[in-house]
Amino acid sequence: MAKKTAAKPKEASGECKDPRCPVHGHVKTRGRVFEGIVASDKMAKSVTVKKERLYYYPKFNRYAKRFSTYKAHNPLCINARVGDFVRIAETRPLSKTKSFVVIEIIKKREDLS
Ligand SMILES: [Zn+2]
Repeated sequence: MAKKTAAKPKEASGECKDPRCPVHGHVKTRGRVFEGIVASDKMAKSVTVKKERLYYYPKFNRYAKRFSTYKAHNPLCINARVGDFVRIAETRPLSKTKSFVVIEIIKKREDLS
């Protein structure tokens, strides 16, 4: 996106052997793309991404925050961690509950807050 080219430079030497990496592997992305914050990185090669949406209360004429969570594949060359603001893209289903992949880290946790 901008000044910092987050994912690429480190592993440009063909280090990433992840077959489910959208750049180095065989998985194609199609469908929806959106941004969210990594809520959990405890799974192997997967992260949970939390996306904020606004829920409207007509009675009070106001909005409240609601969150949707998505499980996404976390390729080795991206390696997103808890608190990172990431962009995820839809893929074919990668497992029972996972059909997204992290395509870039927009902001690392340290740069936020
Ligand atoms: Zn890769």
